[in-house]
Amino acid sequence: MISQYRGIAPKGQLELLKILGEKFMGRSILNVNSTRAGGGVAELLHRIMPILASMGMDAHWEVIEADDRFFDITKKIHNALQGNKEDFNDGMWDHHFEINRQNAEKLDLAADFVFIHDPQPAPLIKFRKRGHWIWRCHIDMSTPQQDVAGRIMDYARLYEAAVFSVAKFAMLLPIPEFIVLPSIDPLSDKNRELAPAEIEETAQKFDLPPDRPMILQVSRFDRFKDPVGVIRAYRIVKKYNDCILVLAGSPARDDPEGEAVLAEVQNFADGDPDIRILLLPPFSDKEINALQRLATVVFQKSLREGFGLTVSEAMWKGKPVIGGAVGGIPHQIVHGVNGFLVYSEEGGAFRARQYLNNDEMLKRMGEAAREHIRNNFLITRQIGDYLSICLGAESGGKTVMEIG
Ligand code: UDP
Repeated sequence: MISQYRGIAPKGQLELLKILGEKFMGRSILNVNSTRAGGGVAELLHRIMPILASMGMDAHWEVIEADDRFFDITKKIHNALQGNKEDFNDGMWDHHFEINRQNAEKLDLAADFVFIHDPQPAPLIKFRKRGHWIWRCHIDMSTPQQDVAGRIMDYARLYEAAVFSVAKFAMLLPIPEFIVLPSIDPLSDKNRELAPAEIEETAQKFDLPPDRPMILQVSRFDRFKDPVGVIRAYRIVKKYNDCILVLAGSPARDDPEGEAVLAEVQNFADGDPDIRILLLPPFSDKEINALQRLATVVFQKSLREGFGLTVSEAMWKGKPVIGGAVGGIPHQIVHGVNGFLVYSEEGGAFRARQYLNNDEMLKRMGEAAREHIRNNFLITRQIGDYLSICLGAESGGKTVMEIG
């Protein structure tokens, strides 16, 4: 399977994977998170697991099961870690722990390497039996609510290592911490090349006009993704340039706020026929792929963002994204070279108009965007990073490791 990436991913990444693959042949690796569909973590695991298996590893993915109360609590934890003010009481923390205790009884947590993703299943560490346990945090922790961060750190410190997406999210922990930026799979349905007929099929399905520029944002309906801000930016653009706006999103089991935010967005759109709000079913990968290719201008106007896979996805399709200058987005967008970083709706609208009025710039920056993703944000690089962390865990704190 790794051989399929030849000619797409940088050669050095594939050579490293070959060496690491030989080292880890037959070893077991388990990933645990809180949803199988919706959001970047599930997106990544769907792609990483089969590749690890194809490399000869015994790779498993488990999802914790929980009631609605648990997901209400963990969404509040998520929001608090991303800087909102949220209130908690001991009963909520007890429920968070209790659901994890119940899951620990049901799930097979025995593996050589165990990656636990985000705060929802973080308490599982209390039930570790064997293996190297690593906590992987995907959240924008740049301005966390301190008491909540403290609670999560009490679990995180029990792991053997922690992995964050961006250096400034790292917590003060007494364990090794690593930075691994996420990635996209160029061979997935979400990112593979599409035939013109496949793109056209999506345009027709959603009744998108072929002759009008389209502004797009693909995101869960989450306030941190600022869909209302995107509508405001579109309204500024619309005063000068004809365009339509497409906001595409789908639900996630671990995000109970989606419905309320969707209603806010629909309300704010106020019946504008040029604003298309698409609520897509899970696994609408080909449709998202086609929408990203159909778009003239792609926004990811987040106010907080762990990484923002949607940015890499659109850049891979040659779109120079306009992104909020937060979290992992500035790692993907090199301002003025392969996209623009913005701090306001007005700034977003200004950059969108620049693109809409300058085809040459759009094309040039789009090409730079695709190459930046090729060199830095393809899944082959990320698997190499993860296996290097496993190697580090097994090497008992050695700072230099021979892999050749
Ligand atoms: N996504 C999707 N359908 C949607 C909205 C989002 O498949 O309607 C995908 C999107 O293409 C990306 C992931 O969900 O692969 C979102 O990851 P990101 O890191 O951008 O944000 P998160 O949701 O994890 O905060």
